[in-house]
Amino acid sequence: MLKTVVGSYPAFPQEPSSVSSKIADLFGSYDRYKPALELAVHDQIKAGIDLISDGQVRGDMIEAFAGKIPGMTVEGNISKIVGKIKPLPHSLGASDLKLTINTAKKISNEFDKSELLIKGKFNENFKGVKGIVTGPTTLVLSCRIEGFYDKDKKDDAIIDLAWALKKEVEYLEEAGAAVIQIDEPFLSTGVADINTAKKAVEIVTKDINVPVSMHVCGGIGSVFNDLLGFKVDIVDCEFAGLPENIHALESSNLRGKKIGFGCIDTKKEEVETTEDVSDLIKMGIDLIGEENMIIDPDCGMRMLSRETAFAKLKTMTEAVEWLS
Ligand SMILES: [Zn+2]
Repeated sequence: MLKTVVGSYPAFPQEPSSVSSKIADLFGSYDRYKPALELAVHDQIKAGIDLISDGQVRGDMIEAFAGKIPGMTVEGNISKIVGKIKPLPHSLGASDLKLTINTAKKISNEFDKSELLIKGKFNENFKGVKGIVTGPTTLVLSCRIEGFYDKDKKDDAIIDLAWALKKEVEYLEEAGAAVIQIDEPFLSTGVADINTAKKAVEIVTKDINVPVSMHVCGGIGSVFNDLLGFKVDIVDCEFAGLPENIHALESSNLRGKKIGFGCIDTKKEEVETTEDVSDLIKMGIDLIGEENMIIDPDCGMRMLSRETAFAKLKTMTEAVEWLS
């Protein structure tokens, strides 16, 4: 089974310390987040993750987009929509994605060499990097609408944002993303309009040639069947922090989709035992079959300590090894 992460990793921006980095800082070319990204890549590879991320080290999943996309802004810690949402003239994440691929290649010569899909099945020997965007529904519902759009009718903003994110996803694919992941945690909250969300995800992923995953953490009991109707290849959910989610798999017709099987609780510092994780994965295998499972933690790991995040990833990959 392919092992991946949801995205974020504990990030420690580093102030310039060497003479050359201090000089670079004077000229505005020192990047505090580059060491944090390299550390996230290093830890993921060392823990045995196949499909890694850039660690999303530059900020949280809302502000990283709301602070940059035309029509959106961040004031204090409030994200706002203040004008018509338009695509960015340049990519937000492509250079970090390229840096992640290059860093990974330096650490391991297995990266970026194999095909992710072989005859429609995921290649378990695959090593690559995923590109991640926050979904249009989650982004709009996390913002205060203060201009251009009607406060009570968020659909127009969601669709405009979908077109803006489509451009970003194209940049990420071009930069070498093996998978595109759309984070839509708001779809499990009951406040999102599923039909608009579905239409928006279809816009974002239109003409994308790599597999698309949609991450929806939270309770999925009432929406799982709807999620399986989205035009994506992988639906990624949490099963460790919310064990009752497993019931959603019991009688589901997956309609050709793979399930991202979150099996590590990312909300608590306590590291689970390999046995507990492998038992949970085994329950998933019994319900939907190993060939339909991609193994990952429940959600991003930003809020954990680095030691805990690494130990949890290592436990997860060991649990998968036990079962293979
Ligand atoms: Zn999540």
